[in-house]
Amino acid sequence: MDEFSLINKIKQSYYRQASLIKGVGDDGAVFRETAEDIVTVTDMFVEGVHFTRQTMTPKQIGYKALAGNLSDLAAMGAKPMFYLVSIVVPSSWQEDVIALYKGMESIAKTFQIDLIGGDTVSGEQLTVSITMIGRVLSERVRYRSLAKPGDILFVTGTLGDSQAGLFLLQSKQTFRNEQYFIKRHQYPFPRVSFSLALEEIDRIAFNDISDGLMSEAKEIAIASGVNLVIDDSLIPIDPNFYQFNLKQQEEWKLFGGEDFELLGATSPRNWERIKMIAKNTNTPVTKIGYVESLNHKDEDGEVFLIVKGKKKIVNRRGYTHLT
Ligand code: ADP
Ligand code: MG
Repeated sequence: MDEFSLINKIKQSYYRQASLIKGVGDDGAVFRETAEDIVTVTDMFVEGVHFTRQTMTPKQIGYKALAGNLSDLAAMGAKPMFYLVSIVVPSSWQEDVIALYKGMESIAKTFQIDLIGGDTVSGEQLTVSITMIGRVLSERVRYRSLAKPGDILFVTGTLGDSQAGLFLLQSKQTFRNEQYFIKRHQYPFPRVSFSLALEEIDRIAFNDISDGLMSEAKEIAIASGVNLVIDDSLIPIDPNFYQFNLKQQEEWKLFGGEDFELLGATSPRNWERIKMIAKNTNTPVTKIGYVESLNHKDEDGEVFLIVKGKKKIVNRRGYTHLT
């Protein structure tokens, strides 16, 4: 299939966003925004690095690539509007590119966003680069740097499910409720509605959990210049997560990525309202810890994990005992 017929096949017949002036079909797309700040995010997906065709269908790959970008916008507090897709297509993928776009369209429809452009080239390895554009009121951007000492820490959903699903897709053993974990790996659901419904809350620091809870927590700690203290026993997991061995549980819930849940820090006085908003948007939320000031003001923010009453200092790949 040549680039021209591909573009004709994937071009939307109408656009959902009122601010769009020109979508696919000219040298550039045009939209007009007046009042709000524009947020852009981008992510790249490479076959063999981020996914394989053994565990993901083309449709799932498209869906999940877009879900990752939506999750980034949710973590900024932004309403998603548009996306652009640049793709390197090897000859072995010619047949399946349309399915990949169908996967993207399925989740784009859910969130009422529009495909407004991209680029197509042939090459060796399937690579999909997505850029997404959203908008947010300037005083509601959920920067990582907004956490303050005394804040509570909370997460949405359950953690570790995506890595458990990947393990099940590659394992020959049978486990309970495999389909649940596999779905969490192949069709993660970004927390866009929850994030947007939090508009009344004045200050939240958000990070989405794409690289594992500990890594995301560390990013907030450094950006905000604070320490984060997380209680291991409070980290939410699925009831069937206990069937995996302890090493897997720990690895997946602390360091496993791609759950696309949100980690937030906010004043404790907001917690009751956040729980209400979570309920109204069908979003499980759990308080998992709190924010402290740095011990010495010139050091980097750290993440501490309380495990069985002992406080441990965590780095991105593991933790060491403190006391
Ligand atoms: P140009 O040569 O001006 O860059 P192209 O022929 O590459 O234009 O693209 C024509 C139109 O199709 C543009 O609007 C472009 O954004 C869009 N487009 C091209 N490739 C893709 C793609 N893979 N996905 C979505 N839109 C695409
Ligand atoms: Mg081009």
